[in-house]
Amino acid sequence: MTINKLKERLDKGPVICAEGFLFEIERRGYMASGEFVPMVSLDYPEVLENLHREFQHAGSDIVEAFTYNGHREKMRIIGEEELLEPLNRSALKIAKKVALDTPKGSKPNLMAGNISNSNIWKENDKQSQKEVESMFTEMIDWAVDEGADMLIGETFYYAEEAFKALEVMKKANLPTVLTISPMGENIMRDGKSVVDTCKELEQRGADVVGLNCFRGPATMFPFLKKIREAVKCHVGALPIPYRTSDEYPTFFNLPDRNDCSCPSPHGRTFPTALDPHFCNRYEIGKFAKDANNIGVNYLGVCCGANPMLIREVAESIGIKVPASKYRENMENHFMYGKNKRIPKHISEYGDKA
Ligand SMILES: [Zn+2]
Repeated sequence: MTINKLKERLDKGPVICAEGFLFEIERRGYMASGEFVPMVSLDYPEVLENLHREFQHAGSDIVEAFTYNGHREKMRIIGEEELLEPLNRSALKIAKKVALDTPKGSKPNLMAGNISNSNIWKENDKQSQKEVESMFTEMIDWAVDEGADMLIGETFYYAEEAFKALEVMKKANLPTVLTISPMGENIMRDGKSVVDTCKELEQRGADVVGLNCFRGPATMFPFLKKIREAVKCHVGALPIPYRTSDEYPTFFNLPDRNDCSCPSPHGRTFPTALDPHFCNRYEIGKFAKDANNIGVNYLGVCCGANPMLIREVAESIGIKVPASKYRENMENHFMYGKNKRIPKHISEYGDKA
């Protein structure tokens, strides 16, 4: 292996990675919720390119190719298997293009290839496991071919599937990030503890281990502390920006607020009616700062992320980014500002507004 560009940067300080393309592209109207197939790289490549640029402007150091769910099994479900390779290559090319075109004043970005939970992995089922391995292999091959600088395996809730993903990723000789996503039982689906899974991922050679998705700051942080203590390698943390709790550790079963007068037709807040549980930017900033303070250097936000939250992550750990130019400035607000030009009769009206 030549120099490990990711590790080199993490050794010096925090690295930010925006994730959560699925929710954000859906919110923008280019993907069906529930089904969640990233056809956007073929249907509206300019929309995906622009989202990458927005995250980059907000401080993401990594441009992760949007191939989440863009695997053979999902393409079979929607009857578009022949589009699998074009979809992957298009997503990778877009990410590479943006990564090579970083704004003035930003550090050069890294382009990341991506594989994730297959949802067909089954314990003690060699057939399903072989199928998953070949799905991972073809995607990693395309990522290497399109010039990935690093590889991210994410959102695994089976420990063994995460190990398999890492095994395939390691063959490419690129820096590897492996983040897992335990469900509400607070244990991996195949019974391994979260911390033991991270320890084993480190032993198997991952450069970064940690957690992404499913959990908000409140239910991700306690695990991070334990993981940080248990491993020597770099640790990653990419929560969802929703207020999960001990009672509801993930966003899958979060009930709606009592004052909801119009619940979702499918009976749960996930994934289309989570809005009332959204964390504010300060909560995300605090999470990033707290995580960084305990030695977590690989930071980001997963499903629910938007550029404003990525900027908050960056600024909370002292990094100035292009979007910092437009950070909040309440000074000049027409009613709550302290600017001398704000008329007194308007600022006095603020409490009644
Ligand atoms: Zn996510």
